[in-house]
Amino acid sequence: MPAGDHAPHSPRTTVRRGAKRATYDPADIHGILADGIVAHVAVVTEDGPLVMPMVYGIAGDTMYLHGALANSLLRAGGDAEVCATVTIVDGLVFAKTSFNHSMNYRSVVVRGRARVVTDEGEHVAALHTITEHIVETWDTTRPPSAAELRATRVIALPLDEVSAKVRTGPAVNEAEDADQPFWTGQVPIVTVFGAPIDNADASAGVPPRVAGLEGRDVHGDTRSS
Ligand SMILES: Cc1cc2nc3c(=O)[nH]c(=O)nc-3n(C[C@H](O)[C@H](O)[C@H](O)COP(=O)(O)OP(=O)(O)OC[C@H]3O[C@@H](n4cnc5c(N)ncnc54)[C@H](O)[C@@H]3O)c2cc1C
Repeated sequence: MPAGDHAPHSPRTTVRRGAKRATYDPADIHGILADGIVAHVAVVTEDGPLVMPMVYGIAGDTMYLHGALANSLLRAGGDAEVCATVTIVDGLVFAKTSFNHSMNYRSVVVRGRARVVTDEGEHVAALHTITEHIVETWDTTRPPSAAELRATRVIALPLDEVSAKVRTGPAVNEAEDADQPFWTGQVPIVTVFGAPIDNADASAGVPPRVAGLEGRDVHGDTRSS
């Protein structure tokens, strides 16, 4: 991802509509990717466009996605153009008109050519990264077997063409609506981790890092009003 200047990364990832909400700052983009938990990944397949929700991991300037060998999106997107979006909705924004209703959000769009990861070391490292995107648990699980690794496809998407959009703040009402007798304001959306629930076959206590999730904001603490 280009650092230093924060210009758009490519013409097709240049935000045109709502451009004042755009950011190409790597720190902003990495912050949103770190706070998000699901990517919606799109690819054009032989039988039409396909979008799948997927977990992901970020290592440097690469987004890793994984799944079963049979996963249709990973098969089609292994050496193809894909688009991945990560969206965090921080609040509902109510205007005096439904036309001006909005949402506060942080979103990232990544476009580019994905490649299938074939190097064994990168494959395992990518799975480690994906596993630990939300909380570090690699060391508190049995390591993957050779068969499990063979059954898992990993694709890598470079973060070369990336855009982010961020909306914060109150509703924007038209001046002509100033006297309209309606409430206008915001309702924040806060998603927090709950208390861990033991499986019946749990054979150890809750790992401290997992226990530490309880009460934490799933999407970080960067939302603002
Ligand atoms: C939760 C949520 C709900 C939304 N709901 C709607 C809706 O119902 N209707 C609607 O019109 N818009 C909605 N938007 C905004 C939408 O994502 C687009 O930004 C907007 O529609 C402009 O689209 P466009 O193709 O005209 O953008 P353009 O500015 O022409 O897009 C050009 C490029 O800008 C980048 N870009 C555009 N939007 C985003 C984005 N959100 N995040 C990161 N990069 C982006 C992409 O790289 C894209 O290829 C929503 C956004 C979020 C996060």
